Amino acid sequence: MKLHTKAVHSGDRKRPQSQIPVSTPVHFAASWICADQAEQDRIFANEQKGFAYSRYANPTSEALEEQITALENGFGALACASGMVALQHALTAALLDRRRKVLCARDIYGATLKLLYDVLGPLGVETALVDTNDLAAVEKAIASEQPGILLMETISNPLLRVGDIPALAALCRKSNVALIVDNTFATPLLVRPLELGAHIVVHSATKYLGGHGDTLGGLIVSDEGHFETIRRLSRIAGPVLGPMESYLVMRGIKTFPLRMERQCQNARGLASWLREQPQVERVFYPDDPSHPDAETISRLLPDGLYGGMVSFELRGAGTPGIFSFLDRLKLCVKATSLGDVHTMVLHPWIASHRDVPPKQKERMGLRENLVRFSIGIEALDDIIADIAQALV
Ligand SMILES: *Cc1c(COP(=O)(O)O)cnc(C)c1O
Repeated sequence: MKLHTKAVHSGDRKRPQSQIPVSTPVHFAASWICADQAEQDRIFANEQKGFAYSRYANPTSEALEEQITALENGFGALACASGMVALQHALTAALLDRRRKVLCARDIYGATLKLLYDVLGPLGVETALVDTNDLAAVEKAIASEQPGILLMETISNPLLRVGDIPALAALCRKSNVALIVDNTFATPLLVRPLELGAHIVVHSATKYLGGHGDTLGGLIVSDEGHFETIRRLSRIAGPVLGPMESYLVMRGIKTFPLRMERQCQNARGLASWLREQPQVERVFYPDDPSHPDAETISRLLPDGLYGGMVSFELRGAGTPGIFSFLDRLKLCVKATSLGDVHTMVLHPWIASHRDVPPKQKERMGLRENLVRFSIGIEALDDIIADIAQALV
């Protein structure tokens, strides 16, 4: 064989060895060789499980899908290229045989609203907003709007409201409305929405599950009723995650329960310290007995695990005051995103919620003097010391 031929053919395409590697290999293959044409035919026809083309299925991504399905107690999962494309794909699949209308929680990630209004809106999908912490309002909106989907977050961003998923799921199931829950903030350590009656769970794996700020990814976990449609549409549209990212997310998930426990513990400690600071006007953290959703929180969240996010308002600060507070922080990482091993902070007013109309910010209760911290796994004393020197 000539060098050019050897360069292309040697080393590759060996039969799997009988020893099993302790971690899942990163399968960069775009396509697979089948035993014969008949087998390839069955795999293309989706009659036989197997690999033919990475847009359909990839062994590294499949390992991650199995992992998150186990954590969320779902029927099956799809690994996607980002949290946003996971949301888009979940919405598309659930709307296929339902009314093209989404009833969406008012208090939700800014880009989710833009997905509904700027991407799906022009395609004919209508959106109506509702306060998902007001069950009577949701029941009324389901009757009047006749939506195909109710979309919400387990713990909302940035005001950390917690919706009553079991009660909302019951309302949805009475009217053939698919309940889709973005579980990014809560993670399956705190809440598993499918166990509570939701149909589909979506994650930005970029956050707690990946956990190291090095990977963009999204995950959809669904019940049996939606799984076939999610997979079938994915084989065509291909919103899938690459094998390297699937490996990184899978690796992240192995330590995520330990990181999350520490992040919850740190966040709780920080919230209690913040409540004692005169410069702090109001602290948002779900362990607060006077939290508007305290009753739901006591039912849904495990004791002591209230999430790794803490938001608070700086007394009397406008945007310039917030800017100088943030500029004084040294340890806390001033960047968008959350759920990483390091503590991060952002100003929702100009970042995550920049494009939310002022009226809607007011209705959500989002004020200009609010900062949102994602607490990391550092020593709590060091996080507090950094915030203390910046509060002055
Ligand atoms: C970040 C985030 C998303 C979007 O995920 P990407 O991975 O950035 O596409 C969706 N929902 C929530 C709650 C998020 O925090």
